[in-house]
Formats: sequence, structure tokens, C-alpha cells
Amino acid sequence: MQAIVYNNPWEISIQEKEEPSIILPDEVIVEVRATGICGTDLSIISGEYMARPQVIIGHESAGVIVDKGAAVDNCQIGDRVIIDPTYYCGYCDNCRKGLRNHCLLKSSTEAGVSIDGTFTRYFKTTQRFIYPLADAIPYEQGAMSEPLSCVLTAVKKLQVTPFMRTAILGGGPIGLLFYLALKQYGIREGVIYEASGQRMQLIEKNDVLTDRWTMSPSFVPQKNQYDLIIDTTASLLEKSIQAIADGGKISLMGLRNNLQTINPREIADRSISIIGSIDSQDTFRHAVDLINSGQLELQKIITNEYDLHHFDAAVKDLGCDLTTRQRSNNISSLKSVIRIS
Ligand SMILES: [Zn+2]
Ligand SMILES: [Zn+2]
Repeated sequence: MQAIVYNNPWEISIQEKEEPSIILPDEVIVEVRATGICGTDLSIISGEYMARPQVIIGHESAGVIVDKGAAVDNCQIGDRVIIDPTYYCGYCDNCRKGLRNHCLLKSSTEAGVSIDGTFTRYFKTTQRFIYPLADAIPYEQGAMSEPLSCVLTAVKKLQVTPFMRTAILGGGPIGLLFYLALKQYGIREGVIYEASGQRMQLIEKNDVLTDRWTMSPSFVPQKNQYDLIIDTTASLLEKSIQAIADGGKISLMGLRNNLQTINPREIADRSISIIGSIDSQDTFRHAVDLINSGQLELQKIITNEYDLHHFDAAVKDLGCDLTTRQRSNNISSLKSVIRIS
């Protein structure tokens, strides 16, 4: 089967890989139909996020069950399913503390990072990690369960209330999923700050924002401006602290290396909470149910689809140019998805 393989930073190729087969009784094989391109994939390509050389990348997927082990009892061959790609063992100290998103085996079990992922035709997992995809929901929307689940985990930790004055920094897929998740929790008003003019145009053209949510191109912090700031850019903590109100909460979810200076005295004196979150913990089912309900209108956010052979063009449209080996804000898509088979 053909697969998108990571070799070294900026070296990605389409390669022939062996198809997986069932060995253990609880295993299933999913024929992947759609895999979303995630910020993590771009960071792997640009060398900012470590991945194992020769690994098949990709992890946000939905597809069809094509084979299963003798003990699998939660699906049938032919079922449409969503894959939860975040393996946890259930036995290590972190898993037993409820921190399954920090499973101690993660560094050697992460699909699309340290083990083969889903930018390919077949993916093997176990019945624990598949969920049904409703008949009416397209595969590319099912593939958004993983990023949505990560966002729901972050929102759960934030314990939001409906009248928080809210800003989301970054109008990419994660920022927009935060917008959808916060609306579920009753936040009907807020601002999304997005530096890319092309992205702003797409958000406007597709009527993504409803209620009293608006957009702005530049975040100029003012004192006591927001009760809740979601920084998806991972580079605006100093500005966020300037804008957060007393007792406010700042959420950090992006993975980009940079240093920011903050004054611990101010954090204490103004009762500011800075809350980090990574991957998903006990929210995957919630994400699947929301997506299967069809109410999120994800078709407004999934703007670009490609096949496996146009992966270079797909990442280029996300500002990640494999020829010049540069990342830029020249982004002409909201969420991009690779359609397979
Ligand atoms: Zn992802
Ligand atoms: Zn574990």
C-alpha cells in the first residue's frame, strides 16, 4: 500500500509499505477513507516535533472495518468507524492516575509519530480505539473527532461559564474547534484573532461564525479585556497576561518552542490561571457524539481535500513548503483532509 512516510525534517515521500494483518484477537483493520492534516504533522515535517524516521505519518482518521480478530465484539466488517489514535496502556502509573493522555508508553505508541499512522490505506488498531461513524456523516468530518476531543479536554479543564468575555488567539482548525466547543458550553460571544488574511476571508465566506462572535486581524491587549483567553499560537502568553482580567484563565495548547517572560507575582496577585492541555482524556466519546449529531457544520471548516499523491500541495496550502523548506503564514485552507481509497 502507498503511504506518506517521514524520512528526515523536510524529507517526506510516498513509499510502498506492507499491509498490516490481524495477529491478536482484539485487533481490527480499518481501511482509511479520510485523514486530516494536523498542526502536529506540519511540525513533524519542519523538524519542530520529533518523529521516528521511516514512520507513516497522519493520525486523524475515519474509515471502514475490513478485518477483525476473533474476540472483537463492538463492530462488524463493513462498519464505518472513527479511529481514536491516542493509545494508552491502562496499566502504567500515569494511566492509573487517570492521566491516560500522559501514558508512560506514549513515546513508543503514538500513531503517526512513533508507530505507523494513517496517511495510507490500512491501519491496524484494537477494538478499544474505534467508535461508530453515523451514516449521514462524511468520513472527513469523522476524522475531526481527534482534534475536537483534544479541544474538549482543554475546555473541560477550564471550567468555563457562559458570560466569560472570551478571546481565541489563532483562527486555524484548533481555534475554530475551540469556538465550536465553547458555544456548546454557552459562550455565545467572543473574538477570534487571526493574522492570515486568507484564513479570515475563508471564515467569513463560509459563514463559520454565528451569534455574537467576531474576528479581528491583530491582538492589541488592553487591561482587564478578557476573562478567558485561548492561545492556540503558543506564542502570545505575555500579551495574554496583559489582557486577562483578575481571576481570568489562559489556555495553552499549541506546541511551538519559544520563551516568554512572565511575572509570578502578577499571576498570584491577580489570581490568574494558566492551564495547559495536550491530547485527549475521557472526551473522545463526547467528540464522536457531537460529530455524529451533525450540528457542528464541520463542512464550513473543512475547506480543502486532496488525494495521497497531492500531499506536497496539501501541506504547501497550509504554509509548509517542502521545496523551499520554509513555513509561512501563506495559508489558503482552514482544515485540509487527505482522501484515501
Ligand atoms: Zn491531530
Ligand atoms: Zn499507560
